[in-house]
Amino acid sequence: MTLIADFDAITAPTPDLDALAERMEELHRTLEAAATPADGAAVVRAWDELRREVETWSSLVDLRFNQDTANEEHKRAREQRDELLPRWTELEVAMKRALLVHPLRAGIAAEVGEHAFALWEVDVLAFDPAIKEDLVAEAKLEAEYTELMASAEFEYLGEKLNLATLRKFVQHADREVRHGALQQWWNWFAEHGGEFDRIYDELVRLRTAMAEKLGFNDFVELGYKRMKRIDYDRPDVERFRAAVREHVVPLATELCRRQAEALGVEKLMAWDERVQDPRGNPRPNGDHDWMVARAQEMFDAMDAELGAFFGLMNGGRFLDLKSRQGKSSGGFCTSFPTAGMPFVFANFNGTKDDVEVFTHEIGHAFQCYQSRDHVPLDFLWPTMESCEIHSMSLEFLTWPHMDKFFGDDAERFRRMHLIDGLVFLPYGVAVDHFQHEVYSRPEASPAARHAIWLVMERTYLPWRDWGDLAYPAKGGRWQAQPHIFGGPFYYIDYTLAQTCAMQFWLRAEREDRGAAMKAYVDLCRRGGQAPFQELARSAGLKSPFDDGCLAEVVGHAREVLAV
Ligand SMILES: [Zn+2]
Repeated sequence: MTLIADFDAITAPTPDLDALAERMEELHRTLEAAATPADGAAVVRAWDELRREVETWSSLVDLRFNQDTANEEHKRAREQRDELLPRWTELEVAMKRALLVHPLRAGIAAEVGEHAFALWEVDVLAFDPAIKEDLVAEAKLEAEYTELMASAEFEYLGEKLNLATLRKFVQHADREVRHGALQQWWNWFAEHGGEFDRIYDELVRLRTAMAEKLGFNDFVELGYKRMKRIDYDRPDVERFRAAVREHVVPLATELCRRQAEALGVEKLMAWDERVQDPRGNPRPNGDHDWMVARAQEMFDAMDAELGAFFGLMNGGRFLDLKSRQGKSSGGFCTSFPTAGMPFVFANFNGTKDDVEVFTHEIGHAFQCYQSRDHVPLDFLWPTMESCEIHSMSLEFLTWPHMDKFFGDDAERFRRMHLIDGLVFLPYGVAVDHFQHEVYSRPEASPAARHAIWLVMERTYLPWRDWGDLAYPAKGGRWQAQPHIFGGPFYYIDYTLAQTCAMQFWLRAEREDRGAAMKAYVDLCRRGGQAPFQELARSAGLKSPFDDGCLAEVVGHAREVLAV
């Protein structure tokens, strides 16, 4: 593929669905007439080109909407996309079905990859034309959540802020400032709680109805199919959550007790959780442009390919990192498959989080770039838990270079990053467990859902004390977690990936940094050519579902932290 190295040169006209349908009809005819597996594989490749065009257009529309959620033109384009996409999915699923039942299936699979067929088996179960309208409605509700979150405006300590930038005060060295920031944050959620409840209630009902139409018992089953999980299932995830309860919750509780001691507070309150040191958290020693320059030095020092790639991203304007009013919160990486280049979106707020988000998203981007020539398109990205290995591992692999950003505070940063990574695990599985409960009881009232969340907090985050913050104290915390709205069952993925990323960290720190980096780059290059556990094992990692894997990893972290 020819690389388009300038973001502004990427164009993607709105696809003409009728024309696409005709081209797909032709491909069906060619596939039917295929005399050899090579003929069938040629159809897959021709289809792939169409898929790349549609995907590039969809990514561009989505990116522009996220960059300015209040822009009417971008909103309309997103609405139009959300209406067109289910029609395209219908055409795609018809092709997948035809390939799955093709008399030459085995031969075609040998040419394009067995794993593609395994993914398509799952895809066809997750779609039927009967849910097309439901998918449009679902996308609308998800956009409503994004817009609502992006509309938040605050005035605090003389600054005009949004959710992303208010967050920086939650890790301020002054306890009063932190408390005040969190108060503002949760007052806003309390004001809009009814809207969040309504959006979520509609999403839960809609998703449950889709699951029923497709013949599933509940949306949990469909949710796993939508995440394309083919080598693990609900019982494996349950065992992993149990391992977190057994091995990580006690450790995280002890870390929080020590944190309170270090901060000199009698009890760790919700507004203390993000700060681990009375001096406040380490902060990068410069602004956006300075950080980008340091990142270039860092990636150059780590790996020649990684450095060259970052240069391409920056030079071609594939980065949008500054926070602005109206920009959606959070960070993500997206791809333009016709251009071969990914794009990184973030909301810098001047805290250590910027460095973490940055290394995280560049990990995704580097993998996507390394996999840009894989055919079919299904292999451009692996499933999400594997994607998060690329991002979360890079956060750890960049450790030796953190002095570039934090100077004398680098060691403090590394320790905090490790502690945050461990304490994150119980939160991550809480978000996952919550969703299993919600979709198992779709008729539950919004109040009952808040009560479920409180049970999760007591189970997984027993140290949590919201004090006088009434809204989260009554169970509203989950509403600030976008994945619960926009990416159902996409959250356990971070905890599975973290268990893998920490293995990369241990190898780099204790064994052979060069070999760990090489295994990392090789893993990025494989993209989505295999399912999760196979990819992990191919990089020399244990699967988080292997007995004792989590306990072993956490045991090493305990040693390092002397807990
Ligand atoms: Zn990620």
